[in-house]
Amino acid sequence: MLNPIDLPASDHEQVVYYRHPACGLRAIIAIHNTALGPALGGVRLWPYASEDEALTDVLRLSRGMTYKSAVAGLSLGGGKAVIIGGPDVKSEALFRNFGRFVDSLEGRYIAAEDVGTAVEDMDLIARETSLVSGRRGQSGDPSPATAFGVFQGLRAAVRHRLGRSDLVGVTVAVQGLGHVGEALSALLAEAGARLVVADVNFLRVQRAIQRFGAAAVAPSLIHTADVDVFAPCALGGGLNDRTIPALKAKVVAGAANNQLGEARHGVQLAERGILYAPDYVINAGGIINISYERGGYDRARAYAHIARIAGTLDAIFARADAEKTPTSVIADRMAEQIVAAAGAGRTARADRAPTEYRAAI
Ligand code: NAD
Repeated sequence: MLNPIDLPASDHEQVVYYRHPACGLRAIIAIHNTALGPALGGVRLWPYASEDEALTDVLRLSRGMTYKSAVAGLSLGGGKAVIIGGPDVKSEALFRNFGRFVDSLEGRYIAAEDVGTAVEDMDLIARETSLVSGRRGQSGDPSPATAFGVFQGLRAAVRHRLGRSDLVGVTVAVQGLGHVGEALSALLAEAGARLVVADVNFLRVQRAIQRFGAAAVAPSLIHTADVDVFAPCALGGGLNDRTIPALKAKVVAGAANNQLGEARHGVQLAERGILYAPDYVINAGGIINISYERGGYDRARAYAHIARIAGTLDAIFARADAEKTPTSVIADRMAEQIVAAAGAGRTARADRAPTEYRAAI
């Protein structure tokens, strides 16, 4: 049964709880904004300590998706789903019931893979709804596309801050060698960059040493590495009061979501003369790739669009210089302007007929 709740102080269009005790499903879907199109965002499965903690996360993440899709030039809004629980709650019944929940939102939210969920889970959701992306046989794992976008963005940042048109001999500290971090490392090594890496999983570090000739440092010290570029590709919140003063890199360009501990840390980076490639701009490759599933996946067109992340960052860096304003602030303003322009004079998507959304996907 759907239980609409009173929204806490936020600018979200809709937040819905769903519980199905028989299969242990407790989920929340947050639709932040649909001015640009249906809200596409991942389904995160995580052992939140409480529903309040899950709510805070889904509100924050769904807003981030609005900004990400807007700056990436996509006709998509921002949404996200969280399922409360660890890997042990996964079952066919859970994902099929979740699929019915997604379907009940009439196309205003489209599900995708995220932390804790995988392609096979999307296939189960798809048995109950067409409102799911990233299934087998479509665009697949978004991580290589994300890594490709980060690579393009990192090159743009190096060009802007270090005046280098190639990466030969440029040193990059990669924090986290998971799906994106390892693929990014491969692209960087191929371009001639020298890598310093860290991961809490030592097997992944060993593989990077063997594959890329990387130097390894302890996870607790990777941000202090004496390198040109710091590439956060692990968890969010890594740029904070403790780490920023210790950074030696002149550029921060990586895949992790929510890299800034707080918004003021974007200001702190700018004050230290460190060029920050805003996370949701540089890591949009995955969602751009997924968006090309609509109307039949076309990899060449998707990757051409992802390559444009470099140009978007060039524009953000130039505007940040001209307005003497941190890149994080410029990116937020850009996103808000795009969403406001799309929303001006139009009713919120929430007020439109469901068929409109089905037609859009
Ligand atoms: P992943 O789980 O595959 O990889 C994360 C890696 O970070 C793992 O190898 C893990 O062991 C390591 N790690 C965890 N804590 C660490 C620490 N303290 N120090 C060093 N390493 C640590 O995740 P992923 O899909 O590669 O995503 C990486 C980041 O990029 C996440 O923040 C994710 O939200 C973001 N992101 C991913 C995509 C995508 O397409 N996968 C898209 C956009 C953003």
